[in-house]
Amino acid sequence: MIVASAPLAIVWHRTDLRLVDNAAVTGAAHAAGGRIVGVCVLPADPYGDVTLSRRRGVDPSSRAAALGAPPGVARSSPRRVAHLLQAVDELCSEWEAAGSTLFVVQGDPGECVPALAAALGVREVHTAPCPAFDERREDAAVERGLAAHGMRLVVHDETTMLAAEDLPFAIDELPDVFSSFRRAVEQSCRVRPPAAVPALARVPEELRARASALADAAMAAPGMAEAMKASDVADPRASFVPHGGRSHGLARIRRWFWETDCIAQYKETRDGLVGADFASRLSPWLALGTISAREVAAEIRRYEGERVSNDSTYWLFFELLWRDYFHFWVRRWQGRAFKATGVLGRTPCGRQDPEAFRRWCEGTTGEPFIDASMRELRVTGQLSNRARQNVASWLARTEGIDWRWGAAWFESQLIDFDVGPNWGNWQYVAGVGNDPRNRTFNVRAQAERYDTDGAYRALWGAG
Ligand SMILES: Cc1cc2nc3c(=O)[nH]c(=O)nc-3n(C[C@H](O)[C@H](O)[C@H](O)COP(=O)(O)OP(=O)(O)OC[C@H]3O[C@@H](n4cnc5c(N)ncnc54)[C@H](O)[C@@H]3O)c2cc1C
Repeated sequence: MIVASAPLAIVWHRTDLRLVDNAAVTGAAHAAGGRIVGVCVLPADPYGDVTLSRRRGVDPSSRAAALGAPPGVARSSPRRVAHLLQAVDELCSEWEAAGSTLFVVQGDPGECVPALAAALGVREVHTAPCPAFDERREDAAVERGLAAHGMRLVVHDETTMLAAEDLPFAIDELPDVFSSFRRAVEQSCRVRPPAAVPALARVPEELRARASALADAAMAAPGMAEAMKASDVADPRASFVPHGGRSHGLARIRRWFWETDCIAQYKETRDGLVGADFASRLSPWLALGTISAREVAAEIRRYEGERVSNDSTYWLFFELLWRDYFHFWVRRWQGRAFKATGVLGRTPCGRQDPEAFRRWCEGTTGEPFIDASMRELRVTGQLSNRARQNVASWLARTEGIDWRWGAAWFESQLIDFDVGPNWGNWQYVAGVGNDPRNRTFNVRAQAERYDTDGAYRALWGAG
């Protein structure tokens, strides 16, 4: 319900770049009688160095020097930045269509968000991050800045398919292994239906003009325009080029579910390496929250009701449970998710050899299956799950290199980078997570099994 006299509230978007089915949007609209605007903060230095310290709350330079941070790894690739900008651009249109507006600024959220909130005279800022270590630190900084002006931060639980409050255990009692988690939640949890966009009040024209000018400036800031240009050029070998933004995620669902019925064979095809349709390819949109996992779950149910319900349709749901598991995992373990010794506190495989690491990143190890995968990642920002497992196992287990270097490289390159799934899967493969199985892969046997005709190795064999 719209209440014209209610004070304005802000929704601070993080990895929830949509209006529909968004707890922060619904919560803010409810609290402020529909009088809400959005803000999205673009990183000030997206291409700065990744340091292994940034999730440890320690001074970055001294910590990085002590650990030997991975050499030459930027925080994001231009391709990942472009995907973010495309998503933000569509989000601006969504806010406009709903009658309100999105402020896009660049800088440190701890400064930008309180400054905007003070300028707009709001009482509350609502947000819905995946509350991992960095995100909590950001929350605390924004909270302090808001409190100085008598305003408050309201944090919503959002990024998972299952709501944290529906789980049959507290987050700090999250089962150590995925199968126990899955059994428990399948017995007792239900996926809530996606929420509609609430009714929003029309904001004054003057506010929209201000927001639009700020967004134009932020999107054209140094580094941003170059990212968009870089993303215009797709390698001809790439069979799938995801464009950021909600409409493209919805189009992918339409195609993969309804136009091609690929979902009905997913369990058989999901280990594929070449082509666009062996898996859903929804991860880039899920990672930035331009579509929600609940929306995908609802679409699976609809497909099962209208077309077919089989092992494959269940398997997609099963994979979304893996995603949830790692989102809860990173909340549970906080700083330990990023420690060399992992959540088990094991002695890690931790050689820090810049030359061997460089060869892995560039795809020049001499092992054809690994090199093909690493070239595909560098050129497209994408990699199948099968290839991710193999290259991670190769780096951490075969070469015995600090697994965090590999996780940092993935964070930098993957368009679908998602903090829990990335760092959690890396711990699993490196043997410092809670995985009961040894995930050392025989990459030659894997290549023979999954790339029988050598098509994948031939495709990415050079360049
Ligand atoms: C070392 C390593 C790093 C990874 N880093 C990331 C990452 O940064 N971001 C990311 O989204 N996934 C990551 N994954 C998981 C998985 O590889 C990708 O989610 C998947 O390849 C994305 O392609 P898709 O959308 O076609 O997946 P599909 O096979 O169609 O699965 C549907 C969805 O389920 C989820 N999912 C599937 N497998 C996993 C898994 N093993 N763990 C968690 N969620 C899963 C994803 O959201 C995915 O979009 C990583 C896996 C490994 C082994």
